[in-house]
Amino acid sequence: MPHRITLIPGDGIGPELAAATRGVLDATGVGFDWEVVDAGEAVMAEYGTPLPDHVLESIRRNRVALKGPITTPVGEGFRSVNVALRQALGLYANVRPARSMKGLDTRYENVDLVIVRENTEDLYIGIEHMVGRDAAESIKIITREASERIARYAFEYAIANGRHKVTAVHKANIMKLSDGLFLESCRTVAAQYDGRGIEFEDRIVDNMCMQLVQKPELYDVLVLPNLYGDIVSDLAAGLVGGLGVAPGANIGAEAAVFEPVHGSAPKYAGLDRSNPTALILSGALMLRHIGEVAAARRVEDAVRDVIADGRTKTYDLGGTAGTRAFGEAVAERVAAIPV
Ligand code: NAD
Repeated sequence: MPHRITLIPGDGIGPELAAATRGVLDATGVGFDWEVVDAGEAVMAEYGTPLPDHVLESIRRNRVALKGPITTPVGEGFRSVNVALRQALGLYANVRPARSMKGLDTRYENVDLVIVRENTEDLYIGIEHMVGRDAAESIKIITREASERIARYAFEYAIANGRHKVTAVHKANIMKLSDGLFLESCRTVAAQYDGRGIEFEDRIVDNMCMQLVQKPELYDVLVLPNLYGDIVSDLAAGLVGGLGVAPGANIGAEAAVFEPVHGSAPKYAGLDRSNPTALILSGALMLRHIGEVAAARRVEDAVRDVIADGRTKTYDLGGTAGTRAFGEAVAERVAAIPV
């Protein structure tokens, strides 16, 4: 039986990345029955919303989606489809691995981080209002339930993936109540995992950023509230080659949506220039999630081989290959790796 998967190509560079990624995933020989649905500005006129109900229903039915980036207007206009989708589906854990790859010109060779970002609350709940004409207020919500849930996810992930340390990241020195509760929740959960071979520590987020730039090899799994998780995962992507190579997974109890860390890069849309690696590697995370572990490994190995080989690289990695050519090179390599 083929795997029925919702595919949201997204907008901007999304559709071309999705086409390249489909080619790679199909080359694994795993059967897919893609249900392609659109969201974002392009569907506003037809449905009156950037996130029509049938998109959510498709993901709820199939329980797994692969998603390209979707543009969010800055300052005004509709709220982020990406955030709305995570909230509507209860995708509480955003998992973003950042791992060094041979052949990439980066400052470090030995980065192997996993960012576990809380995905449902914090400043991302989107409650803000003007206070008079000249002041604005945003509400930051942190709950014990969501904080303990994400900390538990980080520890379970660490155990399941042979990791050795979880670092909680916060600003509890200043936001004593909200970030204080996040830290307290992480400590409570850490105590429950005492003796399971996972070290626990915490860092203030500004210090964490400096430490990651100076000695990223000291860190392993990081667990963060939503906003710091968003920012630090771009930083982590920068350590290993940039946004073009940074995959991600949004995990919930009922569904999972796999998407790159990066956005829709509108200025590169349709130019066949952008790097599909982040979406391809998100596809590999999806393959693991649906139990196709051997195929996931072949995709990851193929990406690593093509990048290490160096002849086919997109502009962000210092090459001249287009999106399509890179995708084809990875698909060919996948097909050549013995099953
Ligand atoms: P962006 O990630 O789109 O681009 C930032 C920089 O990274 C640009 O220079 C871009 O060229 C480069 N880049 C990104 N992806 C790349 C790729 N695959 N290959 C090569 N280079 C790549 O971030 P932005 O410009 O801040 O955001 C653009 C839009 O995307 C905004 O509307 C934003 O809200 C949205 N966004 C969506 C998501 C999502 O869908 N999950 C995530 C982040 C941003």
